[in-house]
Amino acid sequence: MCSQTLRIQMNGVMLKSGKESIFHLRHHWIFSGAVASYPKGYQDGSLIPVFSSNNQLLGYGYFNRKSGLCGRIISFGEDPYLQLERSLLQAIEMRKRFFNDEETDAYRLVNGEGDSLPGLIIDKYGPYLVLQIGTLGMEKLKSRIIDLLTRLLPIKGIYEKSTAPSRKEEGLENNEEILWGDLPDEVIIKEDTLSFELSVKTGQKTGFFLDQREMRRWIGKLACGKRLLNCFSYSGGFTLHALKQGALKVDSVDISAEALALSRRNIALNGFSTEAQGFFQMDVFKFLRENPLDYEIVILDPPAFAKKKRDIESACRGYRDINSIAFKKMLPGSLLLTCSCSYHIDEALFQKLLFQSAHDANRQIRIVSKHRLSADHPINLFHPETDYLKSFLLYLS
Ligand code: SAH
Repeated sequence: MCSQTLRIQMNGVMLKSGKESIFHLRHHWIFSGAVASYPKGYQDGSLIPVFSSNNQLLGYGYFNRKSGLCGRIISFGEDPYLQLERSLLQAIEMRKRFFNDEETDAYRLVNGEGDSLPGLIIDKYGPYLVLQIGTLGMEKLKSRIIDLLTRLLPIKGIYEKSTAPSRKEEGLENNEEILWGDLPDEVIIKEDTLSFELSVKTGQKTGFFLDQREMRRWIGKLACGKRLLNCFSYSGGFTLHALKQGALKVDSVDISAEALALSRRNIALNGFSTEAQGFFQMDVFKFLRENPLDYEIVILDPPAFAKKKRDIESACRGYRDINSIAFKKMLPGSLLLTCSCSYHIDEALFQKLLFQSAHDANRQIRIVSKHRLSADHPINLFHPETDYLKSFLLYLS
């Protein structure tokens, strides 16, 4: 027993004194400054035991010395392969509480650290899964993950769409390919019984913006008999939820011609008339400046203005501008759903920017409700860094 402990200890990563709190707080990340030593011959990306400075086994993780964020913990004690399987099972079980494939068969099945699976995101589109691998360590576990997924779920295909900029730091190239089974060019999914066409291969992100599902439901509930402006409309998610609930008309604005064509197809796919709706291929800022905003509901769901920390200042200007233009022109008694998916702009800062926009516009504005991510993007209380999306529903007097 003693000699075996010694053997494992000698093969583990040793943390510096005082750094074991990472484990006690169940946070998944280890930065290079916390590591005292790697065992001789350690191959980056391999799973390895982690020890405190006084030789206590803390858990297991994988490391990549190329990156400042060098370690990700897979298990806080138990066998890491067992824990990997357990985390995956728990992620699948959790989704069953919220989703029934008859109504909604597209959701995020694994949300990285939110599901205690750092470096791994899996989106489910009907019987197809899309993997995003962010780290060398998860890359090395890929075949095991594929094996588990094919055993646990009745799926037809697994596709990898790993294009995160963080892969460079890990020494990984982008990878887009079928890993198992097949994947048609177009997939039809269901969200609240509405049908959506999407393309995993050529679409934005993995094909659909799953994270805004609950906001789309919210807007649906408010839309009966109303005229809506859907800015940054992509595949028409908000548009269709509104039309389903009896909206009078929805105008969509997106800079991408492909996105507008896709939203037209999705409107038709669900049996609604595209003739009755408006489609504007242009920059939203320009649209808002040049048009009267005679709508009862406006949606502003832009892409992240701050993708990096150094973008924060310009992103703040962007959010402040876009909201103040809307605030100045929207009808009295109208509602604005305004969102930010910039991780680096937290909820308090976003609210402050909205306050500044209201001040710029000299308009009385009330927050009716604040919303965060949909249920398939759970946030691990021990590791809150996956929390990025903020949506505020505002009432303009
Ligand atoms: N609300 C959508 C997701 C929006 S994704 C949903 O529920 O599915 C962001 C969209 O904004 C993309 O379709 C992108 O083409 C579009 N976009 C990005 N910058 C833009 C700009 N400046 N003006 C108009 N559209 C823009």
